[in-house]
Amino acid sequence: MRDLFQIADEFGPARIIHIHRATVGLKAIVVIDNTACGPAIGGVRMAPDVSVEECFRLARAMTWKNAAAGLPHGGGKSVIVGDPRMPSAEKEQLIRAFACAIGDIADYIPGPDMGTDEQCMAWVKDETGRAVGLPSVLGGIPLDEIGATGFGLAACIDVAREFIGLDLNSARVAAQGFGAVGKHAARFLGQKGAVLVAASDTGGTVADPSGLDIEALIALKETGRALRDHDKGTKLPADAIIDVDCDIWIPAARPDVIRADNVSRLRTRMMPQGANIPCTPEAEKTLHDRGVLVVPDFIANAGGVICASIEYQGGTQRAAFDSIDEQIRVNTRAVLEESRSTKTLPRTVALALAERRVRAAMQTRRWR
Ligand code: NAD
Repeated sequence: MRDLFQIADEFGPARIIHIHRATVGLKAIVVIDNTACGPAIGGVRMAPDVSVEECFRLARAMTWKNAAAGLPHGGGKSVIVGDPRMPSAEKEQLIRAFACAIGDIADYIPGPDMGTDEQCMAWVKDETGRAVGLPSVLGGIPLDEIGATGFGLAACIDVAREFIGLDLNSARVAAQGFGAVGKHAARFLGQKGAVLVAASDTGGTVADPSGLDIEALIALKETGRALRDHDKGTKLPADAIIDVDCDIWIPAARPDVIRADNVSRLRTRMMPQGANIPCTPEAEKTLHDRGVLVVPDFIANAGGVICASIEYQGGTQRAAFDSIDEQIRVNTRAVLEESRSTKTLPRTVALALAERRVRAAMQTRRWR
């Protein structure tokens, strides 16, 4: 048996629960990291190769993200071992079995993540009475459809631009990834006068220094086609998005896309992180040293979880947008001001801010 206490520190994890129901083939792990700020909110990931370490790292990331966003929630995460593309009836059985098994873990509120969606959350809610990211008929706010994270990212950029003296009107944007985060960020930035000069998906990059038609690209993606099928612009390989000359480079796809071996190719003034951990720590430091303003993921992409929290409190879509706008603007400014005055990496400042909030909340609890 491995000693899992080795991954523990002063913040958590509070509990690691392994679930096994051989009759339905269920193997799952739930990590409740820290609940000082409130019941943990965190996604349910379904993938064939998930580990307790990964689950813990994701739960800890939620502790920081929720605390940084000022939400009354701690961090947690769960993983279910399985292929998310399994037949729907099988998936329903597995998700319902998982939900029954976590029914009494009252301080964990599940949400959708890779491999699960609002339908899965409806099954969880049916079994346990609690879940976020629900279908609208159950009071859910469709955060990906309305672009909650992209909206928050645009608000973050609107504040961050002041720190580099960038006018958003005609600012050149490149988006790596044109899914829920990337396309909506482009749309909201377009409404503020910014110009999308390049966008990429797994099939390639489409670029045009004079500006792409954002709505046409979104419409194209909605028909299930790739960006390279757009009838205008230059078509390049997916990786070529890294070389595009721009003012704002938005990672909105996968982790670790910018590393020590390719960071020198970026030609941008700002990287607001839509994706989670899109940069390795070395690459992030290199960008900072080069004067590129990096807004860390858990500050810039918190729109989704703020929306989920408002949904949980029974709030409306309007309330979610207001809360995202206010919280992300306040946090972005606080982090960038302190980073500028202390000459510290924005991530270090953001982490310290989240830690301060969690520590302060821990002081209010009985077992402090
Ligand atoms: P999505 O599946 O809707 O879109 C992902 C996009 O990235 C797709 O267009 C896909 O083609 C593209 N892509 C994947 N690999 C690529 C590559 N190598 N090069 C170029 N494009 C590539 O996912 P999403 O919900 O938009 O999430 C994107 C990222 O943002 C993920 O890292 C996710 O964890 C993070 N995130 C999402 C939310 C949210 O609210 N959806 C919130 C916080 C963080």
